[in-house]
Amino acid sequence: MNYIDPHIHMISRTTDDYHRMARCGCVAISEPAFWAGFDRGTVHGFDDYFRHLTQIEPKRASAFGIQHYSWLCINAKEAENVSLAREVIQLIPRYLTQPNVLGIGEIGLNKNTRNECTVFLEHVELAAQSQELILVHTPHLQDKYQGTRMILDMLNGDARIRPERVCIDHVEEHTIRLAKESGFWIGMTLYPTTKCTPQRAVDMIEQYGVERTLVNSAGDWGPSDPLSVPEFILEMKRRGHGESIIRQVVYDNPMTFFGQCHRLRSTDVNEPSVGITTRTSFAVKR
Ligand SMILES: [Zn+2]
Repeated sequence: MNYIDPHIHMISRTTDDYHRMARCGCVAISEPAFWAGFDRGTVHGFDDYFRHLTQIEPKRASAFGIQHYSWLCINAKEAENVSLAREVIQLIPRYLTQPNVLGIGEIGLNKNTRNECTVFLEHVELAAQSQELILVHTPHLQDKYQGTRMILDMLNGDARIRPERVCIDHVEEHTIRLAKESGFWIGMTLYPTTKCTPQRAVDMIEQYGVERTLVNSAGDWGPSDPLSVPEFILEMKRRGHGESIIRQVVYDNPMTFFGQCHRLRSTDVNEPSVGITTRTSFAVKR
């Protein structure tokens, strides 16, 4: 079955991973800007990173028939340096002209600090002014519930932000309802142990339905599995769910969410999906 992984950090994965993902049916991915594993020291580091995301990774992916999209931001882990964060936010509009950029992300909170909130809100301001989609990272473990509430309060407090243009990612059993009931898209991250296993994701699908729901691997340089979306497909099949409902989660839903990006030709996004059609279905505006 063809699928889309809407959150994976291919900059830290090997070319073999692209090959294996393509063999399993991956036809498109989106790659949010994230923390490199260390705090970058200058805005020039981000300039190079954004060039890598928007120009280099799409070439690596296309060698395997995979369409590559990206999201731009400075990660919450680096938000304590507010002056650097502001320089990076000023840099982003230059890259919003690139045809494969979907919006601002993954912005969010990490330790729920005041500086993180400041930088989050300045990203939201940029997204509102430039009418960009938003991808939101929610914090880990003990900080997740409170952080998710803070994020939703900030987004709901801005009348310009429409929830159907925002995805709240890394939801778990205790945060999925909060995000879904406010009308946001939600992302479930399939990690081998933490966050959400494929089995727990299917449990939540069975409880909350497939509407506005994405599943992703969030594969990066840590323990993660770039083939976890196919694992989710297998678990759905194992429990007797039909092809069309599975396809809605792993293909149609990301197409619909991405298709709201004004750089993509939205009329093509609702066309039926057959084979590797992403290249034409996601054709960018000329
Ligand atoms: Zn991520």
